[in-house]
Amino acid sequence: MEFILEAADHYVFNQAYAQLNGIKFLEPYIQIHHPAREFFTLFIITLIGGYILYFAFASIDYYFFFDKSVKNDPKYLKNQISKEIFMATWSIPIMVGLTVPWWWLEIHGYSRIYHNVDDYGVGYMVFSILAFLFFTDMLIYFIHRAEHHPSVYWWLHKPHHLWKVSTPFASHAFHPLDGYAQSVPYHLFVFCFPMHSTLYLVMFALVNFWTISIHDRIYLTKASFFNGAAHHTVHHSDFNYNYGQYFTFW
Ligand SMILES: [Zn+2]
Ligand SMILES: [Zn+2]
Repeated sequence: MEFILEAADHYVFNQAYAQLNGIKFLEPYIQIHHPAREFFTLFIITLIGGYILYFAFASIDYYFFFDKSVKNDPKYLKNQISKEIFMATWSIPIMVGLTVPWWWLEIHGYSRIYHNVDDYGVGYMVFSILAFLFFTDMLIYFIHRAEHHPSVYWWLHKPHHLWKVSTPFASHAFHPLDGYAQSVPYHLFVFCFPMHSTLYLVMFALVNFWTISIHDRIYLTKASFFNGAAHHTVHHSDFNYNYGQYFTFW
């Protein structure tokens, strides 16, 4: 993220903020390395990245892989895709806003992210992928399970369960606090365990692809161990099974 922030500053934001020079009350906040400027820049680049991930890959998945005959299912809502896109579109900026403080802490060295592969070696990098999947799957299981508690379900998680027959566009169609809560384990991981910075960003993007893929009803695997589309489809239709993200053992 540090690299992306620097590149964004270099190619876009330095010139953009220079235009704001002369506006007295803004001047302190647009100086390079000022937290307000960094928060704003991180917000914009994460928002653009989030929308690209969602719209580009959910669209590719929808047009090339999704079985459109699913729309004839009686549980498919009228104009469902528009409703899914509408919910995701207003939720993503709020999720991004809540995520930016994590990015900021990570950039400023408060997490255990490292930049040099040799610091921990290639073996540890491979191990950290497995640890990342295990740790985040475990926490998401318990967070997701808690979201099904009647005291919070109706306002927090029910919006995502409006989609009894999901499409790729349901992947990010959450109440923003629901989507954010289920992303907190990714950030917690790098505050608990060392992880290479590039690997972390790659894993973060892959997690988004996975989230899209488990909503497209294309059963890449029906292996009982993986919580893929086959299992998550059951979660949307029957509610009481398969709360995990990647695996089923919890
Ligand atoms: Zn659920
Ligand atoms: Zn879902």
